[in-house]
Formats: sequence, structure tokens, C-alpha cells
Amino acid sequence: MKSDSAASGVVVVFFGPPGVGKGTVATRLAEELKYHFISSGDLLRANVKEGTELGREARSHMDSGGLVPDQLVTRMVLKSLDSLSGGIFLDGFPRTQVQAEELESYLRGRGWRLQVIDLTADDRFLMKRLVERIICRSCGAIYHRTNLPPRVEGTCDHCGGALYQRDDDRPDVVARRLEVYHQQSAPLREHYRRQGVMLTLSGEKPLEETLAAVRAALIGRNGAPE
Ligand code: ADP
Ligand code: ZN
Repeated sequence: MKSDSAASGVVVVFFGPPGVGKGTVATRLAEELKYHFISSGDLLRANVKEGTELGREARSHMDSGGLVPDQLVTRMVLKSLDSLSGGIFLDGFPRTQVQAEELESYLRGRGWRLQVIDLTADDRFLMKRLVERIICRSCGAIYHRTNLPPRVEGTCDHCGGALYQRDDDRPDVVARRLEVYHQQSAPLREHYRRQGVMLTLSGEKPLEETLAAVRAALIGRNGAPE
């Protein structure tokens, strides 16, 4: 339990249903604790925007609230990990058993540790949160019209970028995303619980409280990476 965490890498998976706050918590703490931040959803949206082949294949799945095929997402995410070292926060990946196994074999290959922060909330709470969510087009910072508004309407506090609402934050698509979470992703919690690498926290608490709990879990046990 000593200094091995800084030398070898650690991947912290932020797991949970859409809207639970994975991205918000992870981006805030990544900046503060100097972890890299990788979001499968952001990578996919960037591909859609740039019109890459991956983006074209992913688009219809994303628009309907379904999952992008495992192989496409896995290849994309693992490739983005290749050049990184130290500590990495992963948001939105893995979401299926196949993705989890691919990630674990990748981590074994690099001799890296896995830690999972599992955020939970009930569906009605998530629905309310998602339909009011707004996001910075430039830096990806996340706001909420009521709970976490930007200082200046329509403008990012961090970088001054324009804020927008995601296409898939419409109520009908949100309902589908929640259903997909329960069917395809939630079973992974059992997989991680058995490995003893998962910390479960309520995502319904005030943000500062969740940040403090995750911070304590990361620093308290293992120290922040270099
Ligand atoms: P959220 O967690 O709020 O639903 P994300 O930005 O993580 O949003 O994902 C948006 C969409 O991108 C998902 O609905 C899905 O279509 C696709 N996606 C993201 N990550 C994955 C993944 N690991 N596996 C499959 N599809 C994914
Ligand atoms: Zn911004």
C-alpha cells in the first residue's frame, strides 16, 4: 500500500446512469487532482461532429438513446488511453460486460489498477436533471439551468464558450437511455462488486458532498498520481 500508485497507472471508472453526475464529478476532480479525463460520449460526439466513419456509424445509435456497438467504442477508448500515463478518469466506459472485460485485459497488459466510483439515483430524479442540462461546446463543462447555472446565461464560466443542450437530452430519448442503462449497464455493478473495486455513492446529494466523498476515496486510500 505504498508508493506503487504513482509509478504504475490507475484508471478510475465513473459508473452510473445518464445524468447521475459522472461527468461533472470527474471533470472537476480531474482538474483538481491532475488526472486525465476521457469520456466515451465526448469522443463519440467529436467523431460525429467531424463526420468520421466512426461518427457516421455511431450517430443513429446515439440519437435513439441506444448503445454504440462494443467493438467501435472499445477500440476508440483504448486507443485514447495508449498515449496516457499516471491517473485516468473514464466517464461512460465501460457500459457492457464485453467492454468491461476488454478494459480489464488492457489494464492487465499495462499493469494498471482499476477503481470504480458508482453513482446512483432514481430515474425520476435523473429525468429532471437531464432535461435541464446544458453543456459548454468548447470545454465540455456541465451546467444545470436550475441547480448549477452559469454566472452569465448561455456562457461557460471556465472558458467563455457557448452553452447548448444535447440532442439526446430530450425526454423521449432520456427515457430510452435510462432503460438501456438498467438492462445493459447496471448488471456490471455486480461484476465490480465481486472484484471489491467499487465504491457506491448517492448521486442525489449536493455536488460538493459527492466531490468530497470521491476525493477522500481517491486520495485517502492511494494518494493522487503524479
Ligand atoms: P450519458 O451518460 O449522459 O447517457 P454519454 O455522453 O456518456 O451520455 O453517452 C451518449 C451516448 O453515446 C450514449 O447514449 C451511447 O449511444 C453512446 N455511448 C457513450 N459511451 C458508450 C459506451 N461505452 N458504449 C456504447 N455506447 C456509448
Ligand atoms: Zn467551457
